[in-house]
Parts: sequence; C-alpha cells; structure tokens
Amino acid sequence: MSRHRATRILVIEDNGTNRALMVYLLKAFGYTTLEAVDGEAGVERARRERPELIVCDVHLPTLDGYGVVQELKNDQATRDIPIVAVTVLAMSGDHDRLLAAGFDGYISKPIAPATFAQEVANFLSAEGPTKVARFAPPERAPKEEIGPGS
Ligand code: MN
Repeated sequence: MSRHRATRILVIEDNGTNRALMVYLLKAFGYTTLEAVDGEAGVERARRERPELIVCDVHLPTLDGYGVVQELKNDQATRDIPIVAVTVLAMSGDHDRLLAAGFDGYISKPIAPATFAQEVANFLSAEGPTKVARFAPPERAPKEEIGPGS
C-alpha cells in the first residue's frame, strides 16, 4: 500500500474507442486516469486537477492538441506538466513540429497495447509525487552509461 496518492494521468481524446483503450491500459498499469473529450475541456481539467502527466490527441474538437499545449505551457500553474502527443505521424517532420509546439514527446497511433503504458511512464518525472513501479526496462539504454568494466 502506498503512502502516496496515485499518479494521475489526464487523457484528452475525442475518439471514445481510443480513449477507452488508453484509459484501460493506464489503469492496468496502476495509474489513476482523468478524461476529457475535447481540447477546452482538457485544458480546464488540467488547470483544475493538475495531473502528473497529460496524454493528448492532436485532432480534437473546440481546441486542437497544439492549442492545448499552447494554453498549458504558457500558464505557470501547468507548464511543468509533461504533455505527450498521441497521433498519427505521417512524416518525419511531424515529430519536430510537435516538439517545437511544446509537446514533451509523442506516441504514434495506432497505439501498441503491449507497450503503451510503459511508453507513457517514460515521460513521467522521476521527481513527481509518486513513482510507479516499472516492470519493464526502457527500450533504449540510458544516455550516459558509466560503469566498471564496460
Ligand atoms: Mn481526435
């Protein structure tokens, strides 16, 4: 039993099937999930609840993912919350555009159910209020690997 409150992840996604799948996978991984079905609702929810991380679709009604990032990253109260885009990435330039817009990272749609929650976990701050047990090592090796006899 943890002394900490559960790590909360806000899922902003207008497609009900995608949202339900992401919520299901994140809950199975031990996260508490919050949901919003459009961009404005997502911004409002983020401001009110200050989740530890946001997973955000790009194509959204009322305010798209770029608008969501702009709102939240320009607000001192929410700028430190990592925002991960979940979107179809058609071209390599899309990656740069997402990062330039302020997203902290991206996950390609269609999501891979076997690895999605771990991919999301990799974007959580290690200094956050909670640490979720990671049962799988990250796919990529740490950038700096300093060890004896390597
Ligand atoms: Mn959408």
